[in-house]
Amino acid sequence: MEMQIKYAKKDKYPVQEITTGFLPRTVTIPLSQEDNFVCESIVKEGDEVKEGQVIAEASREVYGARAFGVAKIHAPIPGKILGIKNCSYPNGKQGKAIEILLSGSFSYLGKQQSQADFSTYSPAMLLKTVSDAGVINTFSTTSYSAFELDVNKIKNEQNKKLFIRLFDEDPSCDTDTTLTRSDFDKIMTGIYITSKICDVNEIVIAYPKSSNLETMFNLSQKEMFESIPMTFLECDSNIYPAGGKRELSISYIKQKKLAASFEDIMRSCFFTDSSTMVHVYDAVVLKMPLETINVFVDGDCLQAKALLKVCVGTSFKAIAKQCGGFVRKLGKIIVNGEINGVAVNSLDTPVTKYVKSITFTSHEDSFDRSVSICLRCGRCRSVCKTGLSPDIIFAKVITGAVVDEAYIQSVDLCTQCGLCSANCPSKLPLAKVIKLLREERYQNEK
Ligand code: SF4
Ligand code: SF4
Repeated sequence: MEMQIKYAKKDKYPVQEITTGFLPRTVTIPLSQEDNFVCESIVKEGDEVKEGQVIAEASREVYGARAFGVAKIHAPIPGKILGIKNCSYPNGKQGKAIEILLSGSFSYLGKQQSQADFSTYSPAMLLKTVSDAGVINTFSTTSYSAFELDVNKIKNEQNKKLFIRLFDEDPSCDTDTTLTRSDFDKIMTGIYITSKICDVNEIVIAYPKSSNLETMFNLSQKEMFESIPMTFLECDSNIYPAGGKRELSISYIKQKKLAASFEDIMRSCFFTDSSTMVHVYDAVVLKMPLETINVFVDGDCLQAKALLKVCVGTSFKAIAKQCGGFVRKLGKIIVNGEINGVAVNSLDTPVTKYVKSITFTSHEDSFDRSVSICLRCGRCRSVCKTGLSPDIIFAKVITGAVVDEAYIQSVDLCTQCGLCSANCPSKLPLAKVIKLLREERYQNEK
């Protein structure tokens, strides 16, 4: 039986628009902004940097040719490099970060941006523009990679399609859903640009059934997409999982009554989201590097919730302050949703390109995950659609249990859907542990 989580939207008054965040006096920019890659700083303490200047990039010596596709990191504010320090990342890890003190004048912020006419750009030029802007693909809330690296994965596939999810993968978040309402025009242009880059033969738009998508298209958008077939997938965005690669591929196959396997669709298509499409628009049309992100901020600790447009590197503390500060004692901070998100404990944690939501909640875990035990109920195995045994892999990583090599290798098949963790009565962080083991295997293979 397929297992799903029904998430009741409790929000009677959803946020309607984006609020521009306060300008931080300092920003802390983690050197790792996507899975499996750590960039190297190309600035040093005391250097003056301009807004939008590249301050870190992947090393060719470390990553070889793959370094070319890794997203560059830009200074989101002009200022002076205070140094390179250790910091807590929003994915729960620790690492190095570049600290910048604001000074000097802005190159983009507050300036009237002219709009580029990209109609004469070749797909390669468009991809280079997006890549140079440091755009990453935030389709999945559990794994993030540079836009260019994801494009390259389907480069040699036949029958490529572009799947866009206009709602949040995790129903406890409201980032993509709100962005779709407020920035529909930008998102549609981003979709058009991405379809050219990937050279797809069809665009598939996954939208929440509560929205009236047809009425959102204006005439010029209809004209823009005239030459590319479009398919609309209506999805129940209150159900998890409804917006992962697997679920969207299956919905597409069902709607089109195709004989194809969902694995074929997943492998050969480019999957992305509203947030990424806004960044593609900014990169190509406004010629701006990725230096701000849209973060949905909520939680019962805060005075107010908001969709904030903030500089990469802004601290969680500054973000909470802009939402009116705390009205009750902070229990924990959850990054990127309640189902698959990560709990972090430092308010000094800075936002990175992959942060889409931050929840400041008064609830603390009523259990200590490190001492919870497996009850051998088997739920994690029964919900795993790829047939993994998360309990066995967890035992291997956490307790050092001796297990067959096949279990270790099976982590490569994990889609990070998070259903095992969400259904575990002991609340063991199964998906996270599997992800860590997979990253370790990846590092060892390099
Ligand atoms: S996160 Fe991985 S192991 Fe867990 S249910 Fe999903 S695919 Fe299976
Ligand atoms: S769901 Fe949790 S408690 Fe049940 S078998 Fe899996 S790991 Fe153990």
